[in-house]
Amino acid sequence: MPFADLGLSDQLLRAVTDSGYDVPTPIQKGAIPPVLMGKDLIGIAQTGTGKTASFVLPMIDILAEGRSRARMPRSLILEPTRELAAQVAENFEKYGKYHKLSMALLIGGVQMGDQVKALEKGVDVLIATPGRLMDLFSRGKILLTDCNLLVIDEADRMLDMGFIPDIEEIWTKLPKARQTLLFSATMPPPIKKLADKFLSDPKTIEVARPATANINIEQRLVITRGDKKRDLLRTILRGEEFKNAIVFCNKKTTVRELYTSLKRSGFAVGQIQGDMDQSDRIAEFDRFKKDEITILVASDVAARGLDVKGVSHVINFDVPWQPDDYIHRIGRTGRAGAKGIAITLATREDGEAVAAIEKLTGIKLPRVDGEKSEATPAEEPRRQEPRRTEPPAKGRGRSPTKPESKPREPIVQEERPVAAKSRKAASPLPDGDGDWNGPVPGFLSFGAL
Ligand code: AMP
Repeated sequence: MPFADLGLSDQLLRAVTDSGYDVPTPIQKGAIPPVLMGKDLIGIAQTGTGKTASFVLPMIDILAEGRSRARMPRSLILEPTRELAAQVAENFEKYGKYHKLSMALLIGGVQMGDQVKALEKGVDVLIATPGRLMDLFSRGKILLTDCNLLVIDEADRMLDMGFIPDIEEIWTKLPKARQTLLFSATMPPPIKKLADKFLSDPKTIEVARPATANINIEQRLVITRGDKKRDLLRTILRGEEFKNAIVFCNKKTTVRELYTSLKRSGFAVGQIQGDMDQSDRIAEFDRFKKDEITILVASDVAARGLDVKGVSHVINFDVPWQPDDYIHRIGRTGRAGAKGIAITLATREDGEAVAAIEKLTGIKLPRVDGEKSEATPAEEPRRQEPRRTEPPAKGRGRSPTKPESKPREPIVQEERPVAAKSRKAASPLPDGDGDWNGPVPGFLSFGAL
């Protein structure tokens, strides 16, 4: 089925063609027509399936009619993390380039003044993290009475991060007659209950069984010893099939240490973890996107939902404690039809966590014996020359043993201002006339909001 059959406007189809997409992905095929018809929707889809465009595209056409009023956004998209919110904003920029819609990004970790100014001009689309939205709400800076379209993205992640009470409260401030779209990779009972309570006769689109990993991802479980993990990792990173990788660790301190160790070995490596301030995280992610570094060592909270095309490997340096984190981690590769490899390094102590992953995904992960396989280096690893020069390491030095705690961390970060020196000047906000033809926000400029 071509995009033209989904009922989207000609301007949108042009923007889709400009983006290089020929055919809609299954979630887009399933979601766009009912959303355009004004129906509530539950989209069960993993990241990497094209789910962002499945709500951004019809929203642009729905919002094309009508005008925004000061402090009263016409639609609201809730995202669990700032990175995801910024990515959705990028999608609006990309697909909305032939429309005159205004947008504001309301995320923590950046100063509030510009965000408030944008709201006062009136916005068609407000993309927000729950914490910052509630904050502005309590200061009387925002009214949701005109907000007829609500999107809750990554609902299961919102649950993990403790945002559900905020969302329930936000729900009570919206008009009764509204359209609600809820997206989630998995459908745990609390999310199901929430959907039953707040959505009206929703259409459910499921593009893969909940918690089923993408078939384009080849998964391997390498059994090794804790003290061999770094050597094994280096071997994988020097392997022939390796192009680039996100390497996940369970703790911030492991991220920092592994980053330092890989850097010392000459790898073009960056890190992204919750102790770094927002501008440093954005800068690291941007270097990875631009291929300036080929390895990004990451924690779950910092890396959730990051969208980079063509990531060849996801490597779980630690087996994730939460099985649904496994699905989300490996979903960073094998995106939009590309092939990917997901390697998990496991020790004998990880049996329980591995069993939980296999129960959730319904597949037995193919085992590779790290002791015997060629993945184990026979001797001292060779040094690899860095591909590019890197700036000094950033964002070190706090809570060395604390795990990357999902429920607490984002809330703390919402309060943390971004250092003025690192804020970029370009603003992604519309000009006074609400036109989007201004600077592209992207990751480097949204700090200006
Ligand atoms: P998402 O699931 O929204 O994170 O999207 C994953 C990736 O798929 C993004 O890089 C999108 O740009 C890309 N994408 C979205 N729609 C399509 C499409 N119809 N064809 C090919 N790629 C797409």
